[in-house]
Amino acid sequence: MNEKIINGKECSKIIRQNLKERIKEIDKNLKLVVIRVGNDEASKIYVNSKGKACTEVGIDFLEITFRDDVSEEVLIDKINELNNDEEVTGILVQLPLPNHINTNKILNIIDYKKDVDGLTTTNIGKLNNSEVSIIPCTAAGVIDLLKFSNTSLESKNVVIIGRSNLVGKPLISLLLKENASVSICHSKTKNLSEYTKNADIIICAVGHPNLINKDMVKENSIIIDVGINRLDDHICGDVNFDDVVNKVAKITPVPGGVGPMTVTNLLVNVVKCYEFQKN
Ligand code: NAD
Repeated sequence: MNEKIINGKECSKIIRQNLKERIKEIDKNLKLVVIRVGNDEASKIYVNSKGKACTEVGIDFLEITFRDDVSEEVLIDKINELNNDEEVTGILVQLPLPNHINTNKILNIIDYKKDVDGLTTTNIGKLNNSEVSIIPCTAAGVIDLLKFSNTSLESKNVVIIGRSNLVGKPLISLLLKENASVSICHSKTKNLSEYTKNADIIICAVGHPNLINKDMVKENSIIIDVGINRLDDHICGDVNFDDVVNKVAKITPVPGGVGPMTVTNLLVNVVKCYEFQKN
């Protein structure tokens, strides 16, 4: 069974080792600044793991926190200050933001050359236009895992489930660039299994445990499970792993699949931002 598993920890380790070498060669300290608003426990955990990963590869890390009643103006001023600070390589606004804040407006204040999450309209446009851009971390991680597992994408039928800005939408452009045929399904899709049963590759990013079972997948297909669902005693993905594993050719586990790739690509994006700014 092990040969079926696409191991995100292993893939991530290789990328981080190469990145460490690259960072050593750079004649400047790289610095990531994360802005976190409010007291969301999950956000605190995510930001801590980002900080730890930065330290491991030699990127300076600073977390700036605001109370959850912070105004848009205060956030905008802080982001503008960071945009103009030559010591800051990358800026990340940890999502979600409180409801009174217009998330898109705030994200678009970030200079696109410092936009490590790739969520500014400029980076999204560049990606869709096949220009060099900062690619959202999880979507980039999915492509890394497909390449790491020697999965050819050309002419393959790929079904993405989930249309978020973070995962589903950027994957459309990334997969088209690899000459795959792409379908995208979402909460209003009728007869999901009609899509998935014909898919050579399924990428599932929904947040529903057991959404995909063996009757919905084609023999020898490849499954990338992006979903993270926290149940009482364990974490699982969107795909019923035990049910499908004997039918598919390759599959990512949860945890240990896409998860590690997201933080790794954040580190990759800090270096990309440095290169963007230098040129
Ligand atoms: P989201 O939560 O913004 O949206 C979920 C998407 O699923 C929507 O596009 C919706 O249309 C679709 N959907 C909902 N119910 C559906 C159904 N029954 N059938 C088909 N589609 C349906 O999306 P997100 O932020 O991309 O997160 C999705 C999942 O991926 C979550 O579990 C999240 O925790 C996980 N995630 C994991 C990582 C990682 O690093 N592994 C990163 C980002 C997100």
